[in-house]
Amino acid sequence: MPSCVKAAVMTQPGKIETQVFPYPQVSKDTAIVKVRLAGVCGTDVHLFRGRNKDLQCPIIMGHENLVEIVEIGEEAATRMEFSGQKLAVGDRIVPYPGHSCGHCWYCKNLPAQRYGPMCNGEGGACYGLAMRADQPPYLTGGFAEHMLLLPWVDAFKVPDGLPDEIAVLTDIFAGGTGILKTMQPSPMLQEGFRPTGTVAIQGAGPMGLAAAVTARIFGAYQVILIGGPAHRLEIARKLGVVDAIIDLDEVPDPAERVRQVQALTQGGVGPDLVVDATNVATALREGLEMVRRGGTYLETGSFEDTGDVTINVFKHICSKDVYLMGHFGSPPASYGTALKVIDLAWKRGIPLDLLVTDCWPLEKTQQAFESKLGYGGIKSVIDPRL
Ligand SMILES: [Zn+2]
Ligand SMILES: [Zn+2]
Repeated sequence: MPSCVKAAVMTQPGKIETQVFPYPQVSKDTAIVKVRLAGVCGTDVHLFRGRNKDLQCPIIMGHENLVEIVEIGEEAATRMEFSGQKLAVGDRIVPYPGHSCGHCWYCKNLPAQRYGPMCNGEGGACYGLAMRADQPPYLTGGFAEHMLLLPWVDAFKVPDGLPDEIAVLTDIFAGGTGILKTMQPSPMLQEGFRPTGTVAIQGAGPMGLAAAVTARIFGAYQVILIGGPAHRLEIARKLGVVDAIIDLDEVPDPAERVRQVQALTQGGVGPDLVVDATNVATALREGLEMVRRGGTYLETGSFEDTGDVTINVFKHICSKDVYLMGHFGSPPASYGTALKVIDLAWKRGIPLDLLVTDCWPLEKTQQAFESKLGYGGIKSVIDPRL
């Protein structure tokens, strides 16, 4: 084993430097993993911009991690995998980054959210987002050669044959599985998302494209994408999962976009489901105008405070009889679902590897973040093996 581990440490917002840590020690209930790929998430970019006042530096960011086990304790080998599979050295896993307190109201009362992002108790933690690099166990983010996985980590074994650059998209697709939340028990009611439904997606970033693929895999009849810029839409086209694209640069008027989307749907009534993945507050109003009466609006786009927006309660909510749903973060079980969705999509020939548009060595993590300040590629990843 090496004697030290290199990591990209953010010492203050906007400043990332390479630091060296001692190689950690494994115990019976922990694992040491080698990072194969770590995705740069929009959430990381918000931290880099200094927009989160709870951020504690120094921190090794990176919560979208595809890793390989290099050492694992015997208890961890039988307990750490979420679905009960045994783990061994050499296995590729995706570790769920979050840990919740287990005793707050949310942890106790929302079983599906257990250890999920609803927790507001003391003692929660999150790899890559809320653990300090100057306190044990130090190696708690994916922008590093190795990480130490603590006993509470839920790991998900990667299906054989699924390429690294697709498995690293698990976290993004876990967000995309928010669509499943809108599924209704009775398709006859024509509420929520259902197979053969029409879905419009606002936003052509990683979340929007993951939502488009997920909608298609789960049987959407028609998928309409509203977004930009052109190079992102080009990738959306190549994925082959969208039927129509409205380019924001070509159709800058929101009212005209609403007209165009509605005209694409059967009877001109509008989509059954509209999903926001834009991180722009005004998308809400536009989406509520677009969705058909009795349809569903899923808000997955705002992971930071994007400000206020004006809607007309009568026009946009009541008279529309709309389901308006929020979706924040992803509970651990959604990682298992996401891995199945991407495995299925890959086996069906959807070229998900196109979503990884740029790959950076650890030493260039600062540059990787600077490149994300505009609407650059889709998903940037750090490969600490480079
Ligand atoms: Zn993320
Ligand atoms: Zn809790």
